[in-house]
Amino acid sequence: MESMIKKSSPQKELILYVDDEEKNLDSFKIIFRKEYDVLVAKSAQEGLDMLKEHDIRLVITDQRMPNMTGVELLEQIANMYPEITRIILTGYSDMEAIISAINKGRVFRYITKPWDRKELKETIDYALEAYRLKVENKELIDQLQKTNKELDELVYRSSHDLRAPLASVLGLINLAKTEEQLDKIREYLDLQEKSVLRLDLLLKEIIQYSRNSHLEVKNDDINLEQLIKESIDIHEYFIGSQDIKKTYKVDQSVPFKCDKYRLEIILNNLISNAIRYSNLKQDSPELEVTAEVNEEEAIIKVKDNGIGIKPDVKNNIFSMFYKGSDEKMGGSGLGLFIVKETIERLDGEILLESEVGKGSTFTIKIPNV
Ligand code: ADP
Repeated sequence: MESMIKKSSPQKELILYVDDEEKNLDSFKIIFRKEYDVLVAKSAQEGLDMLKEHDIRLVITDQRMPNMTGVELLEQIANMYPEITRIILTGYSDMEAIISAINKGRVFRYITKPWDRKELKETIDYALEAYRLKVENKELIDQLQKTNKELDELVYRSSHDLRAPLASVLGLINLAKTEEQLDKIREYLDLQEKSVLRLDLLLKEIIQYSRNSHLEVKNDDINLEQLIKESIDIHEYFIGSQDIKKTYKVDQSVPFKCDKYRLEIILNNLISNAIRYSNLKQDSPELEVTAEVNEEEAIIKVKDNGIGIKPDVKNNIFSMFYKGSDEKMGGSGLGLFIVKETIERLDGEILLESEVGKGSTFTIKIPNV
């Protein structure tokens, strides 16, 4: 499951040094190999080839080289790999070209030759920090764009989905006002209740989505058996729930630390789906929740022998507002989207095995923090 901001790598960071004089390459390597992973290239072209192969974060190049100057090389790199930080080494004679490159944003810093070890090291560290910030910034922007897109869709779709049951309630109220027969009025009230429950469900899910995006992840002590039992109990009075045999088995011998609120959201959604999508033609509809906790993670399986999910929609069911074809089920199409988002916040993963007519098993793995 793709996610969040990468933590900065504990390994040494990869630097490329380009210079046509071999002795300069050797001394750079010897001086800096303890602190960084150093790659060296004898020409600009060799440097460009290395960039294709390696995850390089910083390029330091000499300005004066045959075929291509350092500034020209860095301009190409700026176009192809804008996140890589670029430093140039130069004598005073090339100042004009270099100042213009710096002004155009092509070069991060210049260092005059002969360089001083301490000054160059400080500049390299500063440049690597700039690289990290750039990557982090890009990831934050990507995340923000994704959230904005989701929010737009959420507002658009939910305002539509909120208005539909409201319109139906208003229509039913008007009918009831002019109706004399008590049993007809009761029927209208039942229909109104259904619409109000749909409204309530949608609002609850919007609140879950919003809380998952905003609240910090907590580290609660979890008694998984109790949590699963409570979640099953909440669904005891759901329509059709009484006919379903529900069992659970939890193997937890080590403490489990996780965010209780988010775990509840995940379990409630999966259990409610297992009940709603049970197979009414099945002789013995069942729901089974199993869980085991070890030092690293909790593995929870929610298994039903219900209607199952077609292979071609397996990926869609986690999308916002995706509903299976049976509109009668009355869901909002947000449940599994919220489950997926919530699991992502917990750095966990969700897997699905399902066969039409046989049932579905959702397996979730959540780190034990
Ligand atoms: P909904 O509100 O429609 O239930 P969800 O996001 O919870 O929305 O689920 C999306 C779709 O995935 C459902 O409409 C249904 O078609 C399918 N689905 C989810 N859980 C199950 C399940 N346990 N068995 C069969 N189908 C399921």
